[in-house]
This record gives sequence, structure tokens and C-alpha cells, in this order.
Amino acid sequence: MELRVLSLYPEQMNIYADRGNILFLQRRCDWRGIAFRWDGAGPGQSIDPSSHDLFYIGGGQDRDQRVVAADMVETKRAALAAAVEDGAVLLAVCGGYQLLGESYQLGEETLPGLGLADLRTVREDGPRLIGNVAIETELGGEKRVLAGFENHGGRTYLGTDARPLGRVVKGHGNNGADGLEGVWRDNMVGTYLHGPLLPKNAWLADHLIGLALERCYGERPTLEPLPDELERAAHASARAAAGV
Ligand code: GLN
Repeated sequence: MELRVLSLYPEQMNIYADRGNILFLQRRCDWRGIAFRWDGAGPGQSIDPSSHDLFYIGGGQDRDQRVVAADMVETKRAALAAAVEDGAVLLAVCGGYQLLGESYQLGEETLPGLGLADLRTVREDGPRLIGNVAIETELGGEKRVLAGFENHGGRTYLGTDARPLGRVVKGHGNNGADGLEGVWRDNMVGTYLHGPLLPKNAWLADHLIGLALERCYGERPTLEPLPDELERAAHASARAAAGV
């Protein structure tokens, strides 16, 4: 088996060690004897919906989002929509998450989003939403905690067609007001949790690996359990940092 991962704009959208998420996926595949293929797609590059099973977009500064937003809509939107429709995994973190929605409003300027999720993001007056965060989610079928770190100026508001990834236990979440965090539809997950997210929440990494392999091979593989002492400690430490 092979996990085929495509990072969108790895040069521009990669702040706060979001690349660690990719490394973590790679290690968990290596340790299980699953081959791992990684490619990147930058500005101007089109993508093929069937060539990868896990698509990833990390966080970015507003200026990086300005560089990629219109290009992503123009060169990648249709293929990404087709891939998600066909069961591919799409994981989007922070700046990448914001770009899943309709738009990101920055004062007078409106950055276009992919329109894959019913949400919009607005840069409002007020402090950046920064800190350790823990949320409760039912992604994967049982109630679990995801822990990480958030740092965003944009506030995201879900529309009526969007389901949040989870409820905020500690931290700010989508907008610091409604207690919701992230978005989740089929195999698409958007979240403000950096940290990086996956090394602090190994179960989520395995869940996404399983979904991506299922899309490729037609059935969900049983992933060999790994000795996760360090991963459990990383999760406990991220939770403790959030006070949960
Ligand atoms: N630039 C966006 C904001 O500040 C996203 C930041 C991020 O990816 N950490 O809201």
C-alpha cells in the first residue's frame, strides 16, 4: 500500500511547523511498512484529483494567503472539489482552513475562497485569537479531544450548511464567540489547530491515513497499532497547556 499526499502551496502555507504534520504521516506509514509519496503543488500548477488521496494545506500569514487565494481558485478548485467528492481526504489548517470557505475579508479587500465549505472569515477589530486550545470532536465516531495551538486574526463564521469539527473546551476556536471550532464534511477537515496538529493528536493522523487508503484501495485497512508513548505524552502536554 502507498499513501499519496499532496501539499498545496508548501512554500507559502506552512507556518508554525505545519510541515510536521506531513512528517508525522510519513513516519506512521514508514513504521507500518506503508509506502509514502509526497508531492507539492505551488502557484500556477494544476492538480489531478485521482493522483493523490490526501490533500493538505497549512497555515499562512495574510500576505501568503494573498499570494495563493486567487491562484488556488483558478488552478486547483475544480480538481479539489472533485477529489473531495470522490472520497479523498482534505486537511486544511488555519490560513488554509480559512480559504476553504467563501471568502476572507481583510478590510476593503476580499480574498476568494474555494467555496468547499459554507463558511466565511472576516478580519475584525480586536486582538488576535492566540493560545493553547482544546476541543471536543466526534470525528471518527467517538467523542475525543483534539489539542493544539491557535493564532489567527481572522474570525470564521459557519453557515447553516456547515458542521463544526468540534466544540471549544478551552481557547477561542472559530471566532471567540460561538464556541465552535473548525469544519468537517465527509473526509474534509478544517481547523485552527496548529501545533502541529497531528503529532499532538496521533489518533487523528491514523484516522486520516485510514480514510485516504480506503479511497485508494476500496476498503479501510486495519492499521497496525504503534507504541505511542511519546505521542501520548505530546497529547497530554498539549492538553495540559490548554488546561484540560
Ligand atoms: N493569516 C490568517 C489570520 O491571521 C491565518 C493565520 C494562520 O494561519 N495562523 O487569521
